[in-house]
Amino acid sequence: MTHSRDTAVFDLIAQEGERQRSGLELIASENFTSAAVREAQGSLLTNKYAEGYPGKRWYGGCEVVDQVEQLAIDRVRELFGAAWANVQPHSGSSANLAVYNALIEPGATVLGMDLSHGGHLTHGNPVNFSGLRYKIVGYKVNPETELIDMDEVRRLAHEHKPAMIIAGASAYSRVIDFAAFREIADEVGALLFADVAHIAGLIAAGEHPNAVPHAHVVASTTHKTLRGPRGGIILSNDPELGAKIDRAVFPGYQGGPLEHVIAAKAVAFGEALQPEFKVYARQIIANARALAAAFQELGYRVVSGGTDNHMFVLDLRPQGLNGTKATKRLDANHITISKSTLPYDTEKILHGGGIRIGTPAVTTRGMKESDMPRIADLIHRALNGEEVKAEVHEFAGGFPLP
Ligand code: PLP
Repeated sequence: MTHSRDTAVFDLIAQEGERQRSGLELIASENFTSAAVREAQGSLLTNKYAEGYPGKRWYGGCEVVDQVEQLAIDRVRELFGAAWANVQPHSGSSANLAVYNALIEPGATVLGMDLSHGGHLTHGNPVNFSGLRYKIVGYKVNPETELIDMDEVRRLAHEHKPAMIIAGASAYSRVIDFAAFREIADEVGALLFADVAHIAGLIAAGEHPNAVPHAHVVASTTHKTLRGPRGGIILSNDPELGAKIDRAVFPGYQGGPLEHVIAAKAVAFGEALQPEFKVYARQIIANARALAAAFQELGYRVVSGGTDNHMFVLDLRPQGLNGTKATKRLDANHITISKSTLPYDTEKILHGGGIRIGTPAVTTRGMKESDMPRIADLIHRALNGEEVKAEVHEFAGGFPLP
């Protein structure tokens, strides 16, 4: 058989490479994987069916992928100090689906962070399985401090007696106190589910408190601060809950695991176990703080007044903008961010009153605190309608992609 290069697809991949190289990537949930991660993900392991778990498969010929998957499990357990791990979920959302399916009944009450305050779709959006199948109660941040209000979480937990409480967010820039969440969960007999998708890399590096010792179960994506392939993981210190979750993943709702992606996860976990990863995670936070401060210098309002992690949200209402308008102006200049709702937003949800900005990707490119004022200046000028695309290209071009 002859192989001809599919130019339609590969030309587009080349274009996307150029877009990633020449632009400024500030989406808080994105990152640039290492060449080794991409090599594993693009490997011939994609050819292999392996329904089941290492040593217990429905298919023959799994002796090699068994070792790959076991390596991923062992490394992720070491990284997060977890007694049990499942590395098969195809994404963060499917990891969360498995957690719900394994641990609570349809119709059960779930207490999670209100979506407009920073929670994720799978924490109760009315059109998501979570909102459709469960009775969701949302906790909000304190209107003054814009921090999670643990007194309010406790009050709602006692009032609604949820079967499960979710701690975790997609747009929250402060430390999440998992120990305090667990105390509340124990008071009302709820399970504590920590969704650490955004901050997993910071936790792995010891730069954010670990959820694993406190939560009954922890789920995460592998592709954000953790800098692995797109995918999900689930962790627990309770092997009995782990066994239930294993069944909920396979045969519960997935068939064959993606062993090529699991191999790439193993590579990423191996990278995150190295001392350099701690330096990287520390730099992500230093950069986020420096960037937030640079925006404050320019007169912008940062939600909660700053950041302790990899991201922050800018309130653009005082500038007469909203998330949609800002995204358009920045996109036109090859600066990529995501629009965001604000706590107690007065803008339509569709537009959002602000933008979410994250530093994991620019930190991977080697940018430091001293580079952040330049980014803030480029964004500020683009938001004001100035054309800065050529400057963006020149600036970004000075920092190689892995
Ligand atoms: N959980 C949180 C907190 C997230 O922010 C995300 C992704 O943005 C997910 C889960 C879902 O991940 P995925 O997009 O891989 O389904």
